[in-house]
Parts: sequence; C-alpha cells; structure tokens
Amino acid sequence: MRPFRLAWPTLTRRLTRMAFSQSRRARAARKRSRRVAAAVNDLTAVQWAVIQDAWGGCAYCGATASADAVLQRDCVLPISRGGRYTAQNVVPACRSCNASKCNEEVTHWLRRKRLDERVFLVRLYDINAMAALRIPASEVERAFDRFWRAPSSRDVAGHGLGMSLVNQIVVSQGGSVTIKSAQGRGTTVAITLPGDRA
Ligand SMILES: [Zn+2]
Repeated sequence: MRPFRLAWPTLTRRLTRMAFSQSRRARAARKRSRRVAAAVNDLTAVQWAVIQDAWGGCAYCGATASADAVLQRDCVLPISRGGRYTAQNVVPACRSCNASKCNEEVTHWLRRKRLDERVFLVRLYDINAMAALRIPASEVERAFDRFWRAPSSRDVAGHGLGMSLVNQIVVSQGGSVTIKSAQGRGTTVAITLPGDRA
C-alpha cells in the first residue's frame, strides 16, 4: 500500500473546506428550526392518523408500515421550499423514500425514482379534498388562493393551502388545474399534465 500523502497547500485547503461545510450545515439546521418555529405547523395526531389511513402505506412507493418500519411524516413541499407540517402538506413516507427525497422538488424526485407522478398528484388531491368538498360556484376561482377557505368548509379544520399547493405543483410541470362546482352537488377538479418528455 502506498502511503497517503498530500502537499501541504492541498491539505490546508481540504481542512478549511471541511470546517466551512460543517459550519454551513450548522447554519442550515439553525435556519430550518427558525423557519419551522415561525410558521403554522398544526398537523394534529388525529389528522396524521386519518392521512396515514387514507394513503394506506408510503405515499410514494406504497411500502406499508410494520412494527420495525414506522412511516414518517414527509412534507410534500419541503420545509426548505416553504412547506410546513400541515394536514395539506404531509404524507406518510417510508424511511428510505423520506431520506432519498430530502429537499428535492417532489415531481423531479418522483421522475428520478421512476415513480408515477400523476398517480401521486391525483391521490394527493383526492385525499386533501376529503375535508373540503362543497365550494360555492361563485367563489370557485378563489380556491387557488393561498389560505382561502370556502365559507361552507370553515367549520372543517384546515388552512386553505391544499388547492393552492396542487395548482402550484401542476403549473410548475406545465400542466393546468380547472375546478367546476355546483353548490350542494359537488366539485369536479380536472388536472391536465403534459405527456412524457423524451
Ligand atoms: Zn417509500
């Protein structure tokens, strides 16, 4: 085996870089906890139970929970991109998906892992919509506004972020979302996504 040898300038450069990356990590961790503390993170234990039940396993790969593999709370829109621990932004994820997705934008990550982004987005919408079904037609446009809540769903817990989040993700992928609503009859949401890119 050849002895490991580095020229002095290279060694100091490497040590400096290591020290910098450590303080960068610490700074990032501090920033993250400040961001989380500053915003609404109101996912309750009951909501979390309902969400886990609705997905029936890891929202991304379908892996189910077991005694030694508990599903973790993953923010669809990562904390670093403005996402929060709220009922509309949290899905259950297995340890491996959660670690691999990390801070990546969700649709990029799904595509990279060859997972079906359409199936995921449609289910995310369906599950988020469970609690807020009846939107008066006169106010349907407002469903895309952040923090807007239909008057008819104000007695249901939520923050009015679900549709705005779905819209943001779909539009960022070159797609579109349309809503048709008839009060008392229901709401139809159509998600259009561009075809697979070569
Ligand atoms: Zn998974």
